[in-house]
Amino acid sequence: MDSPLSVDEAVRELKRLGRPASPYRERSLKIHGLLCAKCAREFDEHNRQLLTVHHKDGNHHNNPPDGSNWENLCVYCHEDEHSRGLLGDYLAGDQNE
Ligand SMILES: [Zn+2]
Ligand SMILES: [Zn+2]
Repeated sequence: MDSPLSVDEAVRELKRLGRPASPYRERSLKIHGLLCAKCAREFDEHNRQLLTVHHKDGNHHNNPPDGSNWENLCVYCHEDEHSRGLLGDYLAGDQNE
């Protein structure tokens, strides 16, 4: 693990190693599949960490069990969706909010 990571990769890695994936993330991936809702790129077990859960209404506390507030977006589309730099927020608050 000596290869240099970008800040974003490092953040993700820390999140991944530091805590279990948030329950709603796993659930959303299960409901909507390993597929980006925007670019339709498909993911598998090896790169699924590139797929993130977007909250349609922007409220991380709103997690209906049927997945209606979730959208699976790859990190690229998610960043695009939060083009004002909110993805940093999203990543930082992912586990807690
Ligand atoms: Zn995408
Ligand atoms: Zn989002």
